[in-house]
Amino acid sequence: MDPIVIVGGDAAGMSAASKFKREAPDRDVVVFERGEWVSYGACGLPYYVKGDVEELDDLVSLSAAEFEERGIDLRTGHEVVAIDTDERTVRVVGPDGEFTQSYEDLLVATGARALEPPVAGTDLDGVFTLHDMDAAARIRAYLGLDAPPVDDGAGESAGFDDVSEVDAVAVVGGGYVGVEMAEAFAEHGITVHLFEMLPHTLRPFGAEAAAVVEEHLEDEGVRLHLNTAVEELAGTESVTAVVTEDGEVPVDAALLGAGVAPNAELAERAGIELGPTGAVATDEFGRTSADHVYAAGDVAEARNVVTDEPDYVPLALTANRAGRAIGATLAGEPTRTGGIAGTAALKAFDLEVARTGLVDEDAAREAGFDPVSVTVTTGSRAHYYPGSREIQITAVGDAESGRLLGASMVGREGVAKRIDTVATALHAGFTAEDVSMLDLSYAPPFSPVWDPVLTAAKVLD
Ligand code: FAD
Repeated sequence: MDPIVIVGGDAAGMSAASKFKREAPDRDVVVFERGEWVSYGACGLPYYVKGDVEELDDLVSLSAAEFEERGIDLRTGHEVVAIDTDERTVRVVGPDGEFTQSYEDLLVATGARALEPPVAGTDLDGVFTLHDMDAAARIRAYLGLDAPPVDDGAGESAGFDDVSEVDAVAVVGGGYVGVEMAEAFAEHGITVHLFEMLPHTLRPFGAEAAAVVEEHLEDEGVRLHLNTAVEELAGTESVTAVVTEDGEVPVDAALLGAGVAPNAELAERAGIELGPTGAVATDEFGRTSADHVYAAGDVAEARNVVTDEPDYVPLALTANRAGRAIGATLAGEPTRTGGIAGTAALKAFDLEVARTGLVDEDAAREAGFDPVSVTVTTGSRAHYYPGSREIQITAVGDAESGRLLGASMVGREGVAKRIDTVATALHAGFTAEDVSMLDLSYAPPFSPVWDPVLTAAKVLD
């Protein structure tokens, strides 16, 4: 029997390969990865630039050698350039030339890539996107931050507390990577100018949460340029300024955070159907429109549990979970890849920000609901217990059915994991009333007796 072939050796691809090999040790699985890194945590890249993570290697879950030990035929430096779904073959370009590989089943796990805004100057030195390990290394090197970490004398590293050679950096785009990178740059004493063409940063988190984050970013010294489209990155060899309709802002480097697009072209060229979002359309088992071809992770759509429509929210758990499910399916145990609620959390300096489901009325209306929303601010602990901080929750519901549709949250503590209660409620299809009646834990150091989620649901109900 021909092997299982996997294209892409990160979260989705390696989860599938590992699960498949565990369940079907006698079968062969071949993974083609065009880069040299495999099974790396791209989510940790901002923290590597910041210095919280010292080595890129620290971000790797399992090395290529460890996968080989598990019996997975992993070929780094190999790019799949074509798929023939009739012949069930892929065309591969590797270090020793081009060849054809047959497959029994194929998983496309080619991920996504960072988008660049359509402005002049993105090819200048000092202009970066951040989507892979090598990009993070290039950014640190450009900032002059590749010095070894300082030892604090206790045998433990005190982290990268060196000061950058760069004075000012532009972050173009206020998405979550842009906000995480603003913090990373600021850590090194760099003045950060964050440009966002919309009225608010962090669009998927909703305007209410974003407004709180923006105030905090400014308190931390980030210069915010909202409602400001970047027209050009200026410079001769390297970037020296950002040009907007308000004039020029001098900078020494720029990070483009304009979102991501699925690497769906390989599948599309093979005649595999893309969905309405532009990512590869899949069914509940990760099957594509072509027989014996599956897709998972940042290249693929997933079904949104709130709207019951295909959605594209490229996040790590979705990739790992779908990869693992497809690995099990291919090994003979049909397993659903699971729905998504778009649950995400982010650290912005001292704030935790989180979201799940539909976080504003416009999104809910667009999805066909009759939305109602509330924004409430409560404490993170009992009011008398020291250290209680404000948590702001915006909850959205459907007026007709009473169903809870989503929420965003922001605060200094107790936010990132608290959103998971709401996410669980969305998966269960709970109404706001159902949520308001949940038996959630209480002790003064951890929450008020009415947990903020209960309060928000009660007010919404
Ligand atoms: P990828 O990780 O993109 O891997 C795809 C692989 O396929 C790549 O290694 C690529 O080289 C390879 N490939 C592509 N085309 C080919 C080809 N033709 N032939 C061979 N190989 C090919 N998610 C979260 O949930 N939380 C976070 O906090 C978070 N933070 C992030 C921060 C940053 C800076 C970035 C960039 C991403 C972050 N993510 C986060 C997203 C998360 O990293 C992705 O969802 C996850 O990596 C997707 O895994 P994947 O396997 O689908 O794709």
